[in-house]
Amino acid sequence: MQEFGETIFAEMSALAVRTGAINLGQGFPDVAGPGAMLEVAVEAIRSGEDQYPPGPGLPELREAVAAQRLQRYGLEYDPAAEVFVTVGATEGVAASVLALAGPGDEVIVFEPYYDSYAAVIALAGAVRRTVTLRPVEGRFTFDPDELRAAVGPRTRLILVNSPHNPAGAVFTREELGTIADVCREHDLIAVTDEVYEYLTFDGTEHIPLATLDGMRERTVSVSSAGKTFSVTGWKTGWVTAPARYVRAVQTVKQFLTYAVNAPYQRAAAYALGNELAWVEELRTSLQGKRDRLISGLEAAGFTAYRPQGTYFVQADIRPLGFSDGMDLARALPDKAGVVAIPTQVFYDHAEAGAHFVRFAFCKKDEVIDEAVARLARLG
Ligand SMILES: *Cc1c(COP(=O)(O)O)cnc(C)c1O
Repeated sequence: MQEFGETIFAEMSALAVRTGAINLGQGFPDVAGPGAMLEVAVEAIRSGEDQYPPGPGLPELREAVAAQRLQRYGLEYDPAAEVFVTVGATEGVAASVLALAGPGDEVIVFEPYYDSYAAVIALAGAVRRTVTLRPVEGRFTFDPDELRAAVGPRTRLILVNSPHNPAGAVFTREELGTIADVCREHDLIAVTDEVYEYLTFDGTEHIPLATLDGMRERTVSVSSAGKTFSVTGWKTGWVTAPARYVRAVQTVKQFLTYAVNAPYQRAAAYALGNELAWVEELRTSLQGKRDRLISGLEAAGFTAYRPQGTYFVQADIRPLGFSDGMDLARALPDKAGVVAIPTQVFYDHAEAGAHFVRFAFCKKDEVIDEAVARLARLG
């Protein structure tokens, strides 16, 4: 693990604290989740729910997740055998990769990738193969031939994050169809990271890969409460998959963390059943924040890519006369009093992402306004 060092989020958030800069780096919201949901967690603690819950998760949450997948996507999962609770989506992805890929196996990821993917592939002793997302007509997409070329005899898994952090792409039915074709042709398992499943904009639909023909039986879907209900610190997630994959994931997860905190599971179950109107308001508000940040970034001279989902905008720094996002991100707190994330750290082909920095817009309007006012001085 030596090559991994400290995550960029820790470095940049520490820089924000040290310099007093506005932190548009790490993607955590600055408003609270739904009040009644918070009360459920408080009540669970007060009522003494303090001991180990069942390893696979509270039945209440597994039933709520099964109901959510069915109502929203028409996907049927048996809560007792095909739904499994994890310490956030991070552990859901980690346990899935550790369970399903071994030493020498290859795992395909789209770059830029969420940083934990590379680390957990390394922990599994597996090898990552990257397929690059590039902007085409204003949105990030991949070249189907590049995806097909990434598959080899040792390929076991493909990790699919849609809505995609940090590129902001929500894969279309056509793009997902290409991924599904590749999975079926080469007998691959897909692990999907759907933590932004509710946070899509302009009427863009999130389509779970498992809903495509023949994909439910070969897809491990992962999501969590963190982004949907603005509780990124709760680390309460879940996996839905055919029973044999859930058993494999469970075998790994039981020795990573055994179980997941009970009070937040209780609250997440409540929220999935009762707080989707709140989530819709969050989604609408985020869409406005996205537009606010993009106008500001454009006025400051960046080329900003309008995401179809997530919390993030990818900005090209070249129109401002910069070429290296890492240099700029390290200098930005002093130059402008703002922190951003250099996207190149999420690429194996760093040159493909050298000129991008990522800004988060899950922040109060006044914070976004102040940040873009400061950035306007850059030019
Ligand atoms: C935030 C994030 C996660 C982490 O989810 P947790 O439930 O907090 O573990 C996973 N994947 C992506 C793409 C994210 O942006």
